[in-house]
Amino acid sequence: MLTYNSQFQSKLPEIPTSIFSIMSGLATKEDALNLSQGFPNFESDSKLIQLVNKAMVGGKNQYAPMPGIFSLREIIAQKMESLYGISYNPETEITITAGATQAIFTAIAATVKKDDEVIIFKPAYDCYEPTIELFGGKTIAVQLDPEEFSINWQEVKELITYNTKMIIINTPHNPSGRVLSKNDMLQLEALLKNTNILLISDEVYEHIIFDGEKHQSAALFPALTERTFITASFGKTFHNTGWKTGYCIAPAELTKEFRKVHQFNVFSVHHPTQVALAEYLKTPSNYLELGHFYQEKRDLFLSLLKDSRFEFIPSKGTYFQLLNFRNITDESDYDFAIRLTKEQKIAGIPISVFNENKYDSKVLRFCFAKTDETLKKAAEILCNI
Ligand code: PMP
Ligand code: GLN
Repeated sequence: MLTYNSQFQSKLPEIPTSIFSIMSGLATKEDALNLSQGFPNFESDSKLIQLVNKAMVGGKNQYAPMPGIFSLREIIAQKMESLYGISYNPETEITITAGATQAIFTAIAATVKKDDEVIIFKPAYDCYEPTIELFGGKTIAVQLDPEEFSINWQEVKELITYNTKMIIINTPHNPSGRVLSKNDMLQLEALLKNTNILLISDEVYEHIIFDGEKHQSAALFPALTERTFITASFGKTFHNTGWKTGYCIAPAELTKEFRKVHQFNVFSVHHPTQVALAEYLKTPSNYLELGHFYQEKRDLFLSLLKDSRFEFIPSKGTYFQLLNFRNITDESDYDFAIRLTKEQKIAGIPISVFNENKYDSKVLRFCFAKTDETLKKAAEILCNI
């Protein structure tokens, strides 16, 4: 074996393997029910799979155009217009990406320079902070309270300095399952108006929202829209996280910078999938019914857990439910998650890994994007704990 023996300094010395790899790997090894990493255990619509197949057989197998095929960008623009009443130019403002992760990475890479400050809210999805650091930026973390996960905008205001380059928000929010209200967005808008601060609005769970709540896209607020990269993922919406297809919407000036990086970190994205999605998106019910679909799963899961020793506040969006185990054990959430996987054969995610200084609020996250049969088995195990 060759060994590389130099004074090599890691660019990300503190970054461990992602918790999703750890917990999914352990769940497989232990043959446990895997409610940890967020992905459905049922298939994507067979019509969509046939459309990808048709595109492959029809010869759409070479590079797609760098920003994505036009018909897909065009139908995304139509969707934004009909849902949020905003007109984005598909030619200059929409780019198809290899999932939302690449969209977020590219938006940060294109804008954040050394010593720029980026404000994020914790618990935070795990890709934001390492990407900020990779480009020399500084993460300014706001730890949200572990029950309500509400944002104190006055606190945010006090954290803004001359070096603040960007804020990252995520609604519906992974892992808490909370959503930002219209009032939150108005407060953010008031804060950013007349500043040069950019925004990433991570809206991958845009269509997974419950109890009649309306998704508050950054696209609805003019002073946000003009500075925002909206990032989205088809994997969440169409039950195919493994296809890694998403998009980024931003004003032309920002998209121009985004594409300068995009063309060198992926150039373009899986072509047949784009052809299929362009066709599939022509039927809005394919995404508009998703909230109802997942609300039924949330309700089933929670009704089965009502007599368990876990405490919970029902998720308002995403396909994640937090369960508080303070009545069960005072182990750390990480140790408890590992033990549950090994001994009880059910895997969840300890949310301390998304918190500032690994703050442990004795909470695990469970993914309910599972068949009803799996949810029943999971609830049975959890009720016996
Ligand atoms: N943001 C959030 C909040 C997510 O939960 C995820 C993945 N689940 C992503 C971004 C990344 O999405 P993708 O799988 O399309 O890269
Ligand atoms: N977003 C998924 C989750 O929160 C995981 C994606 C990944 O494994 N990187 O579970």
